[in-house]
Amino acid sequence: MSDTIFSKIIRREIPADIVFESDDVLAFRDVNPQAPVHVLFIPKKPFATLNDVSVSDSELLGKLLLAAAAYAKQEGFAEQGYRTVINCNEDGGQTVFHLHVHLLAGRHMHWPPG
Ligand code: 5GP
Repeated sequence: MSDTIFSKIIRREIPADIVFESDDVLAFRDVNPQAPVHVLFIPKKPFATLNDVSVSDSELLGKLLLAAAAYAKQEGFAEQGYRTVINCNEDGGQTVFHLHVHLLAGRHMHWPPG
C-alpha cells in the first residue's frame, strides 16, 4: 500500500498528540475531533482497509480493540460508555487508507450514525 499521513506519524515525521504506544499499536488524538474524546488506534503494520487484514493478523486486530478498551478504562469513561468505529472504503467514509479504529467518548452517541 502507498504511504499515508499515519505512516508519517508512526515515523515521527509529522507531529501528533500520542496517547498510547506499544510494539504493534500507536494511538493519537484525531486532529478534527468529533467528540470530547476522539483517539485513533492504528497498527504500526500498515493495512489500507479492514478488507486487507488476513487471519494471520487476527491477534493484531484484537490488540487494536483491546488497546482502545484499556484506554477507556484508564481514562475513566469505560463504564459511562464510548464508541469504536472502523470506516471502510468509500461508503464507510474512510479518508485515510491506513487501517484505524476511532474511539469516541465524552458525549452521548446517536444511532443510526450519519
Ligand atoms: P477516516 O475518515 O479515514 O475513518 O478517518 C480519518 C481520520 O483521521 C479523520 O477523523 C481525520 O480527522 C483524521 N486525520 C486526518 N489527518 C490527520 C492528521 O494529520 N493527524 C491526526 N491526528 N488526525 C488526522
